[in-house]
Amino acid sequence: MAYSYEAPVSQTLFDRASLVTPGGVNSPVRAFRAVGGTPRFMVSGTGPYLTDADGREYVDLVCSWGPMILGHAHPDVTAAVQDAVARGTSFGTPGEGEVALAEEIVARIEPVEQVRLVSSGTEATMSAIRLARGFTGRAKVVKFAGCYHGHVDALLAAAGSGVATFGLPDTPGVTGAQAGDTIVVPYNDLEAVRAVFAAQPGEIACVITEASPGNMGVVPPVDGFNAGLKEICAADGALYISDEVMTGFRTSKAGWYGIDGVRPDLMTFGKVMGGGFPAAAFGGRADVMAHLAPAGPVYQAGTLSGNPVATAAGLAQLRLLDDAAYAKVDAVSAELRSMVGEAFTKEGVAHTVSAASNMFSVFFTGEPVRNYEDAKKQDAFRFTAFFHSMLEQGVYLPPSAFESWFVSTAHDERALERIAAALPAAARAASEATA
Ligand code: PLP
Repeated sequence: MAYSYEAPVSQTLFDRASLVTPGGVNSPVRAFRAVGGTPRFMVSGTGPYLTDADGREYVDLVCSWGPMILGHAHPDVTAAVQDAVARGTSFGTPGEGEVALAEEIVARIEPVEQVRLVSSGTEATMSAIRLARGFTGRAKVVKFAGCYHGHVDALLAAAGSGVATFGLPDTPGVTGAQAGDTIVVPYNDLEAVRAVFAAQPGEIACVITEASPGNMGVVPPVDGFNAGLKEICAADGALYISDEVMTGFRTSKAGWYGIDGVRPDLMTFGKVMGGGFPAAAFGGRADVMAHLAPAGPVYQAGTLSGNPVATAAGLAQLRLLDDAAYAKVDAVSAELRSMVGEAFTKEGVAHTVSAASNMFSVFFTGEPVRNYEDAKKQDAFRFTAFFHSMLEQGVYLPPSAFESWFVSTAHDERALERIAAALPAAARAASEATA
């Protein structure tokens, strides 16, 4: 595919990057491999806009993959960061900022009685799994096909479709031993989960699920799914871990828990709670968390855990996220979803706009999408054409058909108008695309 829209400075930077960094990026999806073309190197962000190294401005619908829920460079967050930096950037001791952030999390999310701060979502899920295994004395972990929990060895396992399958490593470097205790089950299928528990009673340490998945595109849990997981886990003595790295503090004040009210044993967080800095967390039942070092025997640690700059940014962001802020993000998302749906309908493009609160994505299929197998049946080639047309017109979408779109409180009428102006041509490009 040829792109009329060139980005010479980004291309030069990408060429330089590719010499010193594998694939030219520090996280694979940034390389645009799913859509082709030159990844845009961004130099600044303000509110809902990003500016690339070629001086072009984009309306940002990625928001750093979720964290920037107040838009870029929010003045209050920036001020909190500047203030923290001026006082020193890392001490390797306890500090008040991490206590305040932990208190904020505990106050917002009722099932979190105790919380441990870490630096990435990957670290949070890895530690939660270790803790679940240490607490229960069991080895096996159940996860769902299409759910992503970071690049934890044991969780980089997927499965064939259909019935539950023992995990096979998804990537070289993960051994059979590391993935062998991982059982992968189709999403939204409680019968498959029941079958797995029936086949190995008393052996499963935990079920980990995205509270509402956003990593196969947005595929919300069907009614009763999370409650069913909780019930199955409780009956067997396994822990129910809800991964809210993406949904936490985004889908509501109390994340997805604030929407479905299903009480997990452990939860994981990241993204929004770091205000654009590396801060993440896991927490939950006090009796389970008491097994964590130094209170208990399960080891977990981090040089930069609870970093004063990251906690200041996260706390400043969370304190601005009141009911009015969530109402604004929800309204922006609803308006955008209806604009996008209308544009595709007008061009006769089969599509499903799939939403979970203010997170949403577009599947290029008219069929319902309830799991990863359904998601993979979409016409992803239409997304490629759509993506590049939007990019050319100054709208930055996630460079993959299997990702959530994210908006912020900073997406105002002007930003929405720019998206509205770009949609007709992009929807036409999607309709004219061929596989
Ligand atoms: N869990 C979920 C649900 C995620 O979406 C992600 C990242 O996208 C992670 C865990 C991993 O977080 P991180 O990229 O901060 O390691």
